[in-house]
Amino acid sequence: MKRVVVKFGGTSISNLDRVRLGARAVYSEYRKGAQVAVVVSAMGHTTDALIRAVKASKREVSKKELDFIMALGERASVRIFATALCKFGADAKYIDPKKKDWPVITDSNFGMANIDLVETKRRVQKFILPLMRRGIIPVICGFLGRDQEGNITTIGRGGSDITGFLMGKCVDADEVVIITDVDGVMTADPNKVPSAHLIKHITVEEMRDLARFGAQVMHPRAMSYKDPGVTARVIHFSHGNLSVGGTTIIGPSEREFVGVRLYGKPLAMLTVVGERMQTTPGILMKAAAPLSKVGINIFGISVGPRSFSVYVMEEETTKALKLVHKAVVGHRLMKAVTSEGSLAMIIAESERFIYTPGVIAKLAEPLAKAKINIIEILSSRASISFFVKWEDRKRALELFKQAMKKIGA
Ligand code: ASP
Ligand code: MG
Repeated sequence: MKRVVVKFGGTSISNLDRVRLGARAVYSEYRKGAQVAVVVSAMGHTTDALIRAVKASKREVSKKELDFIMALGERASVRIFATALCKFGADAKYIDPKKKDWPVITDSNFGMANIDLVETKRRVQKFILPLMRRGIIPVICGFLGRDQEGNITTIGRGGSDITGFLMGKCVDADEVVIITDVDGVMTADPNKVPSAHLIKHITVEEMRDLARFGAQVMHPRAMSYKDPGVTARVIHFSHGNLSVGGTTIIGPSEREFVGVRLYGKPLAMLTVVGERMQTTPGILMKAAAPLSKVGINIFGISVGPRSFSVYVMEEETTKALKLVHKAVVGHRLMKAVTSEGSLAMIIAESERFIYTPGVIAKLAEPLAKAKINIIEILSSRASISFFVKWEDRKRALELFKQAMKKIGA
């Protein structure tokens, strides 16, 4: 029998008509014999309104209290949605973090709590799955967790996507359906690029990167809980039907990489020195394009006011140097090119980098203490690449690994 988790985002249940439309779609899937669990966000922009109300009160509110208050949106939604399902004739039960059968267990990092997957899975199997097997639809608060002491926690804004996929994983669902206010994943933001269109299939890795770089469709951390065997779809609420349209998310094909790794071969840095390097259009292209033409890979580029550097494989230094030199002598503003070899590239990756302040400092400080010089840092949202001397690579790698543990990344 098909097992489905359906997650409703705030706009898809922003009023009672929409709640009914959603409940009807769930009900018709249930009538077909599927085992269904529902995860809901707060209705509309309730969470924002709750936060505004707290701010307007001008009272000192602890993070713990704030989580309790923010949770009210989802706690109302489950009750309303479960009632709507019952009105259609389904058997539904709302699942609230203050009740015994609540499944999502986290640490006490209020506002951005970390999920205890082992404990959560155990509780889902104990409390949620048996309901589904008996033909009861559990309606679970998205975004919320509960810590060891029984306090309500939240797992980060937009977190009900995470809850949706987390439930999909823990009940071993065949399908996770994310109901939202867009048709699916688009080639660009249609509000900014009118010719943007729907993408039919996207991989977990692509989806995560889109989310990391600002696409609003899905919480990037949700993808960590997508198993390869689960079909996942993002669809618009207006269909009123769970089985049509939208974007299908495929994969993952490989384990998500989180942590620190060393690129296995030594790299070289080519630096062009000159004037107005940062403010002259096309100057970077002039130097870098000849490299691309002959198939020399560029691992990174950094630009400053009077110089820019490109990173290439050390074994390609001479070839690259000649090509860049040719560009330099042909351009008024570029004066000279130099190279420095025997560099190691160490890449640190974690979702946490995106919203944790001070990550670079925390990673770099142990190296400073160990007197290891960092030649360059290139950062790109969820990943940071550090360039150090090749001879320092092993010590640096070890220190980064320890620092990552401390950050909790
Ligand atoms: N209601 C929460 C928020 O607005 C969680 C969510 O909608 O995913 O952030
Ligand atoms: Mg959302």
